[in-house]
Amino acid sequence: MKQKILIIEDNEQNLYLATFLLEKGGYEIVAARTGLEGLDLAANVRPAQILLDIQLPGMDGFEVLNRLRKNNALDDVPITAVTSHAMVGDRERCLAAGCNGYIEKPIDPDTFLRDVERHMADSTSEPDNPSSDHGS
Ligand code: MN
Repeated sequence: MKQKILIIEDNEQNLYLATFLLEKGGYEIVAARTGLEGLDLAANVRPAQILLDIQLPGMDGFEVLNRLRKNNALDDVPITAVTSHAMVGDRERCLAAGCNGYIEKPIDPDTFLRDVERHMADSTSEPDNPSSDHGS
């Protein structure tokens, strides 16, 4: 069975690109366009990782992160913040709020899958797999 990744992202272009790259990498994508929808799906889907846009309308990513981290059922689920390169200080705020990793926008198609998988491996303590072929 494919591992599921929940993407919480309001920007259609970013969502499309992230979905395309991760599906190509063999993952099943569950998408949420708002924080509330993301919280709901996170609890129901139990994804292998959550990718969280910080600039969301209404409830922003920090609030979503806080709420996700209050749900003990999701303790084992790595959360990777995805936010703009320009937002100085977001990285520290995200890590302080309990995210496991951080990816900067714009999404780089050449490194995105690897970065997502690295954050997945970090928090599950699985060794890197040098034989995996992401380049093809
Ligand atoms: Mn956004």
